[in-house]
Amino acid sequence: MICEWCVGNKLTLTTQNVLNSTRIIDGCTRYKMESISFHKKSAAHLLAKQCHTANLCQEKTPATLPRQQLLKHHTNKLRLLFRNAHAVSKNKKSLADYQCLCDLDEVKGLTVGATYRNTKACGTFTKYIATAAQNQVADELTN
Ligand SMILES: [Zn+2]
Repeated sequence: MICEWCVGNKLTLTTQNVLNSTRIIDGCTRYKMESISFHKKSAAHLLAKQCHTANLCQEKTPATLPRQQLLKHHTNKLRLLFRNAHAVSKNKKSLADYQCLCDLDEVKGLTVGATYRNTKACGTFTKYIATAAQNQVADELTN
């Protein structure tokens, strides 16, 4: 008799130092209810159960959800900043107008954040936008 969850997560259990006995992993020959009950309550099996659950639904693990929300929040902020930098360069405005557009977004209720709201960041964003546009045109010309 083996425990599939413990066998599948043997490396994790070993590195976490919770594996006191490998009897259930190597193959237990005793079929006593006490042995199964003892294993079911062991720290190793509980950790293996958590690993198994996390592998089944990785997007719903406690650590993944806040991370995804944080990434989405930063992506939305950067999207606004890049759009403002693009608007500045496309309309031939001064880089100083970038700050004004960011302030306007804040007034509209959009979260732009306190970082990357200066002319240097606008210049950097504009360079990246120009490089991406240049690569896109080059790809279209070669294909
Ligand atoms: Zn187990």
